[in-house]
Amino acid sequence: MTTPLDNFQQDWKRFEQSHVWHPYAAMPAATPPFAVSSASGVHLKLEDGRELIDGMSSWWAAIHGYNHPALNSAIQSQLKQMSHVMFGGLTHKPAAELAALLVELAPEPLDQVFFADSGSVAVEVAIKMALQYWQAKGATKKQRLLTVRGGYHGDTFGAMAVCDPDTGMHHLFSQALSKHYFAPAPSCLFSAKWDDECIAEFRTLLQANHRQIAAVILEPIVQGAGGMRFYSPEYLRQVRALCDEYGLLLIFDEIATGFGRTGKLFAAEYAHVSPDIMCVGKALTGGYMTLAATLATREISGQISHNGSAFMHGPTFMANPLACAVAIASIKLLLDSPWQSRVAEIESQFQQGLEGCRGLLGVSDVRALGAIGVIEFDEPLDMAWIQPLLVEKGVWLRPFGRLLYAMPPFIIGNQDLKKIITVMAEITQLVSQNHG
Ligand SMILES: *Cc1c(COP(=O)(O)O)cnc(C)c1O
Repeated sequence: MTTPLDNFQQDWKRFEQSHVWHPYAAMPAATPPFAVSSASGVHLKLEDGRELIDGMSSWWAAIHGYNHPALNSAIQSQLKQMSHVMFGGLTHKPAAELAALLVELAPEPLDQVFFADSGSVAVEVAIKMALQYWQAKGATKKQRLLTVRGGYHGDTFGAMAVCDPDTGMHHLFSQALSKHYFAPAPSCLFSAKWDDECIAEFRTLLQANHRQIAAVILEPIVQGAGGMRFYSPEYLRQVRALCDEYGLLLIFDEIATGFGRTGKLFAAEYAHVSPDIMCVGKALTGGYMTLAATLATREISGQISHNGSAFMHGPTFMANPLACAVAIASIKLLLDSPWQSRVAEIESQFQQGLEGCRGLLGVSDVRALGAIGVIEFDEPLDMAWIQPLLVEKGVWLRPFGRLLYAMPPFIIGNQDLKKIITVMAEITQLVSQNHG
């Protein structure tokens, strides 16, 4: 006898496609998603039996790959204690232990930890901290932020308002967003010789408007979803100096760059500067669960809490114990691994392997930093054509806009990485041949 549910078991993909929304997608999605049945190491297994090498770390997060025994076991043992309790009025050791790790690793003097439930929320929290800080100090005019173009900080309203106003995927909402100050994207590239011109407009904007500005917010070194650009550490040093000169707070969004992706534990280390507020997320739990955190200095928490005032934020699932437990395990796993040499090796393999694509017709740039390899094209890529082709070739990459890029789990072996690079080069050849 068959029941409607039996049909569903055979036909769930059809249901899914007409009922379940996907990120940045039409309904139904323009290109149907691929169904994954399991994932292990750096391999995703599709329902139809095909296996793909993962070049995405599930959006920068799965740095140790999938189904890792140490991470699985951290969740399993926490599950036996409790999966969740509210954080208002209650606390637990996993939250304290994770905070201790973050405080130890984060640049000094960041030692106050607020747990958030996603990267976007961590950015909202950072912005609210900056605003509340100045309110507590009586500087009520300081309601604006200063940032740079080409940035990406998340999809919620506060975060959207500091994403690139044109390429930040949110221009539909521009009328509804808070108005902030935007300097040009840092033009001085990561290993280029510093040119003071690179910071000139930023400096002018800051000098003219500092009375209205509460904080500067930036993704340090790597502008991720806003264009995968790598810029000079000197830019961060200059920004820090300007913030100090004018007494502004500096927020670093390390959600994409944190936990080793760029070759440093945090990208800010390239510049040897510390922010006043720092957001982490994505790789925090090794890609297992959604969790993020906003770290601040004691100066900030002290001002906000002056006269017993409270910081006005508190998600229902704040400091979820399962997520904290797996984050602790993921950070320990990272620190116990030779991640620096591994990430450096991935970088040099990207550099060598992608170099042949430079100069091809339609290719505007090829670059690599840490475990990030990027091919930038002149024109937007045709996803409807490229996505299935990538899967046919056995790799999981998710290009966007004019970018074909990879950021594989750090544990990827040389052979699997070589395959990803080969496929990137093959796709680039094809795009180049079709160019013009
Ligand atoms: C992904 C990302 C965010 C948003 O994080 P979510 O968990 O998707 O909300 C914010 N900032 C940066 C730099 C990111 O890469």
